[in-house]
Amino acid sequence: MKSPIYLDNQATTPLAPEAFDAMLPWLKDNFGNPHSAHKLGRQTAAIVDVAREQVAELLPKQGNVIFTGSATEAINLAFGAVYEQLKRGRNKIIVLETEHAAVRDTATSYVKFGFEITFMPVDSYGIVSIEALKSFVDNKTALVAAMLVNNEIGVIQPVEAISELAHSNGALMLCDAVQGYGRVAIPDNVDMIAVSGHKIYGPKGIGALWTRAGLKLPTLIHGGGQEKGVRSGTLSPALCTGFGVAAELCDSNLNKDMEHIEKLSDYAQQLFDDWLINGSTDQRYPGNLNLRRNGLDVGRLMSDVRDVAFSVGSACASGSGRPSHVLTALGLAPAEVKSSIRLGFGRYTTMEEIEEAANMINSAVEAQLK
Ligand code: PLP
Repeated sequence: MKSPIYLDNQATTPLAPEAFDAMLPWLKDNFGNPHSAHKLGRQTAAIVDVAREQVAELLPKQGNVIFTGSATEAINLAFGAVYEQLKRGRNKIIVLETEHAAVRDTATSYVKFGFEITFMPVDSYGIVSIEALKSFVDNKTALVAAMLVNNEIGVIQPVEAISELAHSNGALMLCDAVQGYGRVAIPDNVDMIAVSGHKIYGPKGIGALWTRAGLKLPTLIHGGGQEKGVRSGTLSPALCTGFGVAAELCDSNLNKDMEHIEKLSDYAQQLFDDWLINGSTDQRYPGNLNLRRNGLDVGRLMSDVRDVAFSVGSACASGSGRPSHVLTALGLAPAEVKSSIRLGFGRYTTMEEIEEAANMINSAVEAQLK
């Protein structure tokens, strides 16, 4: 059976063959526990250290990388920083309206501890206005969270300026860089950064939280005291290695990957020239194209075009039947939201695949709209 053309690289990316090969020995013969004191343990601990350095190479200097099971877990861990802030009378958390559920729902879970949550609106291009944000951030703000690249529409937020504003008011800044890590430069003035292995051609089941040196977090998972005591549990050397090698590949292929993805995106825009692009067309990561054809029933389109793996809204929200909160935040009407699709290109996508997918999607659309 021919597998579908994969255009859903924001949901997850295929595992890089190099990462797969590097993981195998740590699943097979080198099975030591990286936290054991004997030789087998020390061997695996050394490989975890190498992976930590590889992951750190794409992050700001002067910080620590804590391995987690996912970026969602990293974000949950990062929010713990607000407890110290509360002791200083800071009880406000500001997150962008268009954040991933991992940020939005974690923020909301702090209401029960006395925090007030603001979901900061974005403009019709999906970008937050620094001027507008100025009237929300004040000396009661504990934390501001803003993503680097949006997972649904690919727009890039002015994270550096948001962080400057947060800091000038004494607040901490968390950046969910899941969709930008390894592809788009991460400003180095933020305090915490969440990243994920499976979005950069690494394995699923591993993420990381980078914290600025000196920043203390409360324990999220109690136990054997691994990961500086904040996240206990035995690390998987295989997953760490896969993540590390994937990060190293992103680093060494940065320009090549970007050139390839820009070519794919330019070609896709030609092939889909009857569609409108949702979100900013210039402040964006080109591997994401969120497109709209008014009047289209995307549910029907998905069932008509089963040989292309694409998405409507984010992978997590698409099964829920809820209209995308991101597209709604741009001011799109419910019918416009429901006639939008997301195409995501990656390192392994080919021009031929884009062409074939565009033919299949566009013919199904013409048949539906005629
Ligand atoms: N943040 C963003 C922007 C994402 O796109 C995702 C995954 O879709 C996550 C967080 C969660 O990442 P993970 O799957 O590693 O928990």
